[in-house]
Amino acid sequence: MTKPSVAILGLGIMGSGMARRLLSASFPLAVYNRNRDKCIPLGEAGAFVAATPREAATRGQIILSMVADDVASRAVWLGETGALAGASPSSVLIESSTLSIGWVHQLSAKAAELGCHFLDAPVTGTKPHAASGELLFLVGGSTETLEVARPVLSVLGRDVIHLGPVGSGASMKLINNFLCGIQAASFAEAMDLIDAGGLDRGKAVAILTGGAPGSGIVKRVAERTMANDFTPNFALRWMAKDISYALDSASRKGVSLPIAAAALTAFQQAIAQGHGDEDFSAVTKSREQRTR
Ligand code: NAP
Repeated sequence: MTKPSVAILGLGIMGSGMARRLLSASFPLAVYNRNRDKCIPLGEAGAFVAATPREAATRGQIILSMVADDVASRAVWLGETGALAGASPSSVLIESSTLSIGWVHQLSAKAAELGCHFLDAPVTGTKPHAASGELLFLVGGSTETLEVARPVLSVLGRDVIHLGPVGSGASMKLINNFLCGIQAASFAEAMDLIDAGGLDRGKAVAILTGGAPGSGIVKRVAERTMANDFTPNFALRWMAKDISYALDSASRKGVSLPIAAAALTAFQQAIAQGHGDEDFSAVTKSREQRTR
C-alpha cells in the first residue's frame, strides 16, 4: 500500500522524534519549525524542509501539528502562511499538541469550512516514546477520518483510542495531565517534609515509590529528583499550561478543581524561580517558596 505523505508542524522534543520515526518508516515527509535550525537534521535525514507551515501543508495528505500551546497552534494553522492556507480539501488535519478545548473546536470549524477532515489527537508518553513509536493517541473526531489517519498514527503510537467527537481527545488529555501535575506537586511537598523531618531521602523515596503512592508519575519525578537531573523530557512550563487549560475547561462546565488549582500555583512558583524550561519534575526544586 502506498504510504500517505505527511507534514509535521513543530520539531520540538516530541515533534522531532515523531518526524524521525516517520522517516525511518519511509513516509514521504515535509517538516516545518519556527526556528529553522531544528529542521536541519531532519532535512539531512531526507525530509523536505518547508519555509512556512503553508508550504509544508501543500505536501501533506496528512498534516500533523505538535507545537507548544494555543498561541503556537494558531500561529502554525492560521494566516497567509499558515497550514490551513496550504491544505487541500481532501487532507486530514491532526492536532496532537495539548491545547484548550475551545481552540480545538474553533480549529475544527475552520478546517470544516475548507472541506478538510480534522482530528484532535493529543498523546500520552514522552520524549523516548515519541522517538520509538510508543505514544498513546487520544482521539476526537469521526471514525472515517481516524481510519484515514490510522496508518500514520499506528507508526507513531502503541495504541490509538477513539474517545468520541472532536474535542474528546483534548478533554481526556487535560484530565490526564492535571492528575499527573497534582501528583508531581504533592510529591514535591512530600520531599519538603522528608527533608524537614531529617529522614534519609533515599530510604524515604524508596518506601514511597515501592508502595501505594508509587504511581508511574511519582516514580518518574522521584527518579529525576534523586538523580538531580532536570533535563527536559516535558518542560515544566507546559505542565503549568496543561493544568491551566484543564482549570479553564472545568470552570466552563461548572466543575471546581481546587487541588489542581493548588498544583498550578506550585508550578507557577517554579516558573517564577526560573525552572520553566527544565523538566516538570523540577517542581521539587522550588522548596523555598513552600517552606519560607
Ligand atoms: P517543545 O520541545 O517545547 O517544542 C515546542 C514546539 O512548539 C517547537 O517546535 C516550537 O518552535 C513551537 N512553538 C512554540 N511557540 C510557537 C509559536 N508561537 N509559533 C510557532 N511555533 C511555536 O515542546 P514538546 O515537549 O515537543 O511539546 C509539544 C506539545 O506536545 C505540547 O503541547 C506539549 O504539551 C505536548 N506534549 C508533550 C509531551 C512531552 O513529554 N514533551 C508529552 C505529551 C504531550 P521553536 O523550536 O521555534 O521554539
